[in-house]
Amino acid sequence: MELNGLSDLLGISNPWVLMDIKTQPKNKVIDVFIDFERGSKFPCSVCGKQTAVYDSSYKRIRYLDLFDYRCYLNIKTPRLNCNKDGVKVAHVDKWSRKSSHYSVKFEALSIRLCKEMSMKAVSVELGEPDNNLWRVFNYYVNIKIKNSLDLQSVKRVCVDETATKRGHNYVSIFTDYDTGTVIYVVEGRKKEVFSMFYGWLWDHGGHPGEIELFSMDMSKSYQAGKREYFASAQVVFDRFHIKKGLNEAINTVRKNEVQTVDELKKTKYIWLKNEKNLTENQKKTLEEFLVDCSLDTVKAFQLKSGFDHLWKVQSLAIEPLMESWIEKALRLNLKPINRFVKSVKNNINGIMNAIKTGITNAVSEGLNSVMQLARSRARGFRNIDNFCNMIYFLGNH
Ligand SMILES: [Zn+2]
Repeated sequence: MELNGLSDLLGISNPWVLMDIKTQPKNKVIDVFIDFERGSKFPCSVCGKQTAVYDSSYKRIRYLDLFDYRCYLNIKTPRLNCNKDGVKVAHVDKWSRKSSHYSVKFEALSIRLCKEMSMKAVSVELGEPDNNLWRVFNYYVNIKIKNSLDLQSVKRVCVDETATKRGHNYVSIFTDYDTGTVIYVVEGRKKEVFSMFYGWLWDHGGHPGEIELFSMDMSKSYQAGKREYFASAQVVFDRFHIKKGLNEAINTVRKNEVQTVDELKKTKYIWLKNEKNLTENQKKTLEEFLVDCSLDTVKAFQLKSGFDHLWKVQSLAIEPLMESWIEKALRLNLKPINRFVKSVKNNINGIMNAIKTGITNAVSEGLNSVMQLARSRARGFRNIDNFCNMIYFLGNH
């Protein structure tokens, strides 16, 4: 190839000159050598003064492939002799970031691929160690996402937790309810995550005192953290988490009853799934069960529609309706249900707020898929920071 043509393609201009191209056809590698003109001066990395070159060496970075060849730029990198600061390496080329193994364009390609596939797959696709690619990825997420977050208008926040792997480390994820973007991800699910979020808000232009509400699950540690650091914010318990508690209670009732009632075997999901998600067969079985109301499982199940109904009524009528639902539930005299009712009573304010405001973490319905995607994108993620950064990456559009 004509050197001039390639010069233009690579954007090489004064003081840079394209010196040489070496190909290794067997390995399918191209090395491009870029020098600066003799006598060039560059700014000292400390004081910025135009300074003469002391000596130089080549820095080799991966560039975008050229046809099906891996392409490397070998860029002459000077050490400058500043009479004030002494001899220092200067980062003066425009193709790469300081101390990166890759050109800026190659890094951008690797980040784009992360939107489409797991880091492991990106590593195979590009033929680069995933450790190096994670380093680039984390740099990008830090600069482009985390450092650029502007949290000054955040008012309503959803908090969720997720496990990195089944039952392993947990991370807490804070989402802006109004924009649906992930604004903070931190290891752990103890109350301390709220103190960390408090500091994070200040660091990113936010005002902890202006947070109006948190939508979250009923965990004691989240509640304690919220109380301590965001005393004036309302708590809204996430509807999904409340409903999960009721479903678990119903399932326990069934598990107890299945000992004596054979027909209840293998019916778990009939009682737990949303009716609209049942198969035709499951619907039929459910209808057959509902004809006879003597089973505890059926009685417990029937509490569900009343509970769902609470979310549909006008907020003024809600208190008496809740009371009568609780009475009805307690009348069944089933231990698992009683336990659930107790937790409803203990958390009544946050549950009422959820009903009255209609706010749920389902804003983060998106978030659920982000968390799932993060787990698969970050497969073999090596450390929890990588995993957290993947959540930021996927949760910011
Ligand atoms: Zn200097």
